[in-house]
Formats: sequence, structure tokens, C-alpha cells
Amino acid sequence: MIKTIDLKKHFVIGRKQTLHAVDGISLEIAENEILGLVGESGSGKSTFGKTLIGLHERTAGAAFYRGEPLPARFTARDHLKYSTDLQMIFQDPYASLNPRMTVLDIIGEGLALKGAPRSDIQQRVGYWLERVGLHPDHMSRYPHEFSGGQRQRIGIARAMIIEPTFVVCDEPISALDVSVQAQVVNLLQDLKQSLGLTLLFIAHDLSMVRYISDRMAVMYLGTLVESGPSNAVFFEPKHPYTQLLIASNPEADPALERTKPTQYIAGEITSPINLGPGCRFADRCPSVMSHCHNETPTPTIIATDHQVACHLYQ
Ligand code: SF4
Repeated sequence: MIKTIDLKKHFVIGRKQTLHAVDGISLEIAENEILGLVGESGSGKSTFGKTLIGLHERTAGAAFYRGEPLPARFTARDHLKYSTDLQMIFQDPYASLNPRMTVLDIIGEGLALKGAPRSDIQQRVGYWLERVGLHPDHMSRYPHEFSGGQRQRIGIARAMIIEPTFVVCDEPISALDVSVQAQVVNLLQDLKQSLGLTLLFIAHDLSMVRYISDRMAVMYLGTLVESGPSNAVFFEPKHPYTQLLIASNPEADPALERTKPTQYIAGEITSPINLGPGCRFADRCPSVMSHCHNETPTPTIIATDHQVACHLYQ
């Protein structure tokens, strides 16, 4: 359903400075699949999702939706055309809802822009409020009258009322309490099953991503370092970064967590400004070799649908 080839998003931040937020991502997402995208803060996950659906202008590369090339820069007409198919659920349920609009106007805005009559909008908003676990009476209220979990449900209803086929979920659970996270993830999975949705699920909670995703992709400093079936990437990670990321993921069982050897990723993520050749992870990698600093690793297929960009496998 979705394909990107060498997709790049750079931000020019000074006369001679360019921030390489996304630097050549090639991936595919099949129909009715959930692809989990993980990585540390600053790895470019959210920028990739926003660029894919036209919220950022693409710097280079190509993106396709069902074989049709998506424009690098979405015009207002493109946004209207593709909003029926491509939607987004935002990370912050407090910032992503306009505090001056009622829930009816927030959720129904997409339908109103398409010229739907007010009575239809009210009926659809009532249906979607129930579908996401809220009450139709809530449509006359304002966002400040809801908890974080309820606000995120409003954000989900706003994306779903258009009946999209592909949804970018940008860290939809990271601002929520742990008890509410599972409810929202189960709701997304239920909607995926019943509506045949395809999702790009961006998060940094690896256990949650493994639980919800069919396939997992790992980003580091704007590049894709590993991708494959979720269980293969989670239980048999191959890239040194994925291995450290998963080793530093806390165990749910406290007894198991106490016996686990302490492992962490040394140092800070390198600045994404004016990057040169070589492996982006070289400064922090425990397996670094001399040529890693000046030769950029390319993705290598190591098993069915499992690929790694690392000189250890080339
Ligand atoms: Fe480590 Fe080299 Fe592989 Fe990069 S290419 S992850 S530095 S071994």
C-alpha cells in the first residue's frame, strides 16, 4: 500500500548548516499491516511519518500510495484529495485538539470540509464517539473537560471518521498513563481488524510495538538500520543498535529485571547537522571497525523479509 524510495527530509537551519532529519528511507507497508517504527528521540521517526503524508515537504526521494506517486509538496488540493485515505493521530492529545472547538466540531471538521450536511455530521460523530469508548453526549463539550486518554480517543475518532485506509500513529500512547496505554492500543488493533486499516505505528516502547505490529523497523539518526517481522527483530536483533535498544528495554517481571545484566547505549545520539559518510552509529557502536567511519553500510537481506544495514553482515 505504501512504498518509499530513498525518502529524505532535510531542514536548512543556517547559511551552511543542514539538519538531516530523514536521510534516505526505503520501506514498504503492505495492505492491512501494522509497521512499528522505533528508535530514540531525535532519530527522525515522526518527521518520516509527517513527510510521508505531506505535512512536511519532501526534500528528495519518492513516496507511493497504492502505486500512485505522492507529491513532494502537498498543495491544499492534494491535502483535500488524500485526506480521505491518509490520516494521522498525533502524539500530544493536549496540543492536538483546538481548545476553542467543541468535540462535535473537532471530530466533524473533516466531513464539514467535504461539504457533509450538519445532521449527517452529528450522526457520524455520535457513532464514532461510541466506537472509541466515549458517549454521544460528549459532542457538545470542550477538550479541557476530558482526561488525556479520552482526548486521545477524540483524536482517534477525528482520524477515523473520514474512513481512511492508512493512518500514521505518531507516538499515540507516549503521553498517556500506563493503564490507559493498553486500552488505546487495543482500540487501534480492533479498528485495524474491523476496518482493514493499515498503520504506521511510531513509538519508543519496544514491548508495545512488538505487541501491536506485524513488522518492525528501527531508525537511527535518519536512516533505517534494521527491519523485519516483529518477533524476529525483537527476539533475534542483528544490528548492534537494535541489540542494545532491546537489551535496555525494561522487563515487565521485576524478578527478571533484577537478574538481567545492565546494558545501555553509551554516549549521546550524534548531531544530525552536516553529516558525512560512514555508519551513523559508529561513535557508539561496541563492534565498530575502522572502515565503519568512512563507508556507509547498505541494507543487506539476511533472512526472508529481514534486512540489516551494518558492515558486520556485508
Ligand atoms: Fe557498528 Fe560498523 Fe555495524 Fe555501524 S556498520 S553498526 S559501526 S559494526
